[in-house]
Amino acid sequence: MNTLAYRASSSVRRKNDSDEPRRKGGDGCGCLGQRWDRQDDRRHQYCIYRCAEWAVRYVSGEPNGYIFLRPKIRMTTSVTLPVPVVDDGKCNGCGKCKDICRFGAIAVLAGNAVVFEGLCRSCGGCGLVCPTGAIVERPKEIGVVEEGEGCGVAFVQGRLRIGEAVSPPLIREVKKRVPACGLAVVDCPPGTSCPVVESVRGTDFVLLVTEPTPFGLHDLTIAVETVRALDVPFAVVLNRADVGDERVHEYCRSENIDIIGEIPDDRRIAEAYSRGFLVAEKLADCKPLFHDLLLKVLAAVEHTRQGIAQ
Ligand code: SF4
Ligand code: SF4
Repeated sequence: MNTLAYRASSSVRRKNDSDEPRRKGGDGCGCLGQRWDRQDDRRHQYCIYRCAEWAVRYVSGEPNGYIFLRPKIRMTTSVTLPVPVVDDGKCNGCGKCKDICRFGAIAVLAGNAVVFEGLCRSCGGCGLVCPTGAIVERPKEIGVVEEGEGCGVAFVQGRLRIGEAVSPPLIREVKKRVPACGLAVVDCPPGTSCPVVESVRGTDFVLLVTEPTPFGLHDLTIAVETVRALDVPFAVVLNRADVGDERVHEYCRSENIDIIGEIPDDRRIAEAYSRGFLVAEKLADCKPLFHDLLLKVLAAVEHTRQGIAQ
């Protein structure tokens, strides 16, 4: 199985990064992914994994393969985490549960422990230290995993419930459904937060998508540090490569990072993307660009594997 994560930089651009009008997609990572989904689909099985938090759905640049693939969801599975429940009759107010909780999810009020579920990380520590057995656990739904198919592509996504702050357990559930063969594309959220780390962990290759702008460079340097810490091979793709300046190129040269693709600043791409079309299908002349990019990534993955095997 090849698991490929793509996404690096935040899609929120500062006003002065470019004189161009703001376009849906920012650094274009989502745009890139949706073009790959349909590339050469006779050779590979493609999957998109998406973890969307409904509460921040409006944020530009969230994983958005769903929009382009328009999958038909065939199965929905609830994802739960255990949260503590206190039996007031057994609680003596000793506070040991409060003391061990490093997330401040328990307080002792009027002689009884009170759990704030929204802060709980389901570590189970409080139940272990409770001397009276007053703490039991109940399952709490944090979201759902949806599986289906769109445009001939197997599709899995996680939907986090509004208000839930902890997405890594949901992402893990999504990744468990990676098929045993074929190529899986993991569509990461922007930045380098916990969901990104969880999405990238265990993948074979990471494609960092950025723009040649000061903001793009800033995000890229942080993303590179993160991916290096996770010890996953990676390369860079420049979107809107003909805007901005040379600093991303200079940085990549100095850090010995490959730039394996450059996507031009083409208004037709932005327009197709903003209307939810698969660009590789809408713009035939763009297809070779992304096909070539995919082959380079697969070659890089193979190269890494051979290096590990030797
Ligand atoms: S399970 Fe862990 S995080 Fe949750 S309340 Fe207990 S100690 Fe805190
Ligand atoms: S550790 Fe158990 S007995 Fe002590 S305050 Fe917490 S729930 Fe109550």
